[in-house]
Amino acid sequence: MPILVMKFGGTSVADLERIANVAEKVRREVERGYHVIVIVSAMAGKTNELVKWVNETSAFYDAREYDAVVSSGENVTAGLMALRLQEVGVPARSWQGWQVPINTTSQHGSARFVSIPRANIDAKFAEGMKVAVVAGFQGVSPEGRITTLGRGGSDTTAVAFAAAFDAERCDIYTDVDGIYTTDPRITSKARKLEKISYEEMLELASLGAKVLQTRSVELAMRYKVRLRVLSSFDETDETSGTLVCDEEEIMESKVVSGVAHSRDEAKITLFTIEDRPGIAAAIFGPLAEAGVNVDMIVQNISEKDYDEAHAGAVTDMTFSCPVDQVARAKKAMEEAKAAGKINYDELIIDTDVSKVSVVGIGMRSHAGVAAKMFKALSGENINIKVISTSEIKISVLIDRKYMELAVQTLHDAFALDSAV
Ligand code: ADP
Ligand code: ASP
Ligand code: MG
Repeated sequence: MPILVMKFGGTSVADLERIANVAEKVRREVERGYHVIVIVSAMAGKTNELVKWVNETSAFYDAREYDAVVSSGENVTAGLMALRLQEVGVPARSWQGWQVPINTTSQHGSARFVSIPRANIDAKFAEGMKVAVVAGFQGVSPEGRITTLGRGGSDTTAVAFAAAFDAERCDIYTDVDGIYTTDPRITSKARKLEKISYEEMLELASLGAKVLQTRSVELAMRYKVRLRVLSSFDETDETSGTLVCDEEEIMESKVVSGVAHSRDEAKITLFTIEDRPGIAAAIFGPLAEAGVNVDMIVQNISEKDYDEAHAGAVTDMTFSCPVDQVARAKKAMEEAKAAGKINYDELIIDTDVSKVSVVGIGMRSHAGVAAKMFKALSGENINIKVISTSEIKISVLIDRKYMELAVQTLHDAFALDSAV
């Protein structure tokens, strides 16, 4: 029998009524002749609550115990979903990560898949089970400990199962009816896309469009999984939602295809550091070891050739990272300074910044996107603090209070509300 993967996010399983509602969607696919693998998230808000409990108990927590706690939300929904399916006459069974087993690396909090052996689930399908309900977001390390895949990780579980089980499609059911030109909660002018390329979705996701976890798009691209995003609240059929697919399948060709934002960023500047070979490694090595995801980096040119206090040239280094990693970053820098590995006069933290980015494959062959973006932002008096670019995106760091305005302004400037 063909296999379909259906993933339901937190809002789609927020209470028993919604679980019943999506179980009905699963039942219909079973009636159409599929073996279904259902991937569930924790009920809406649950994971945030669990994360908060961990932080309140232990500021610099043991990541193994963090995973033990925050993975638990998915276990509840998996069991409830299996029960609900049984209630409506569908033979279903729930699976926690270790039971499958979903083998991952031991990077707690951001583990990666190693393998998903099919045997256990296939054996149950052979016995007559129609639906395997798998707890998303979690796995098991080589040491036998529970791991989690990073926030939003159930999307990645879904794509990984689609690849491992050769599924016909991977349907991601969520609280919006597809992928839009920008977050539809920020501007009503956001336009739903029928299709989007893996490359563009990968950029949008990594720049903050949380509709899909970045890693899920990476995996879909690598294993050519037909990935679809659609609403769990609407009536849906084969044509609903947005398909993430190869560039060649897409007719639309705008230079910029979407605007993404990442609200909770922070900017950290180390003032007056020595300007010498190895200084960047001495800063970013400890940050990486502390698990800080450094994003944008700017190093100033040397202010002067020789600074007596530092017996050499000096400069400033600025980088950005998620707000919730600021404490770790600060600690790592202070420790590196205390150990004599780096030397700075001052460490300034700005936690009120957001990142806004424009993305489009068309940028590869079109100049002038950056100029247009900067002009549009300056037209609204929005000051740009840091800029970074790649082949198909331009990102700016700005004051958080202007984030919505910046997204709306850029959406207008690149006329994303119209398909042509
Ligand atoms: P789930 O709990 O189902 O995984 P998420 O909250 O993780 O849902 O992702 C869905 C949300 O992503 C939407 O509610 C929407 O606000 C947000 N989002 C951000 N960017 C986009 C975009 N470009 N298109 C659609 N939704 C987006
Ligand atoms: N429940 C997890 C989270 O909130 C995983 C997910 O929903 O994808 O991040
Ligand atoms: Mg999500």
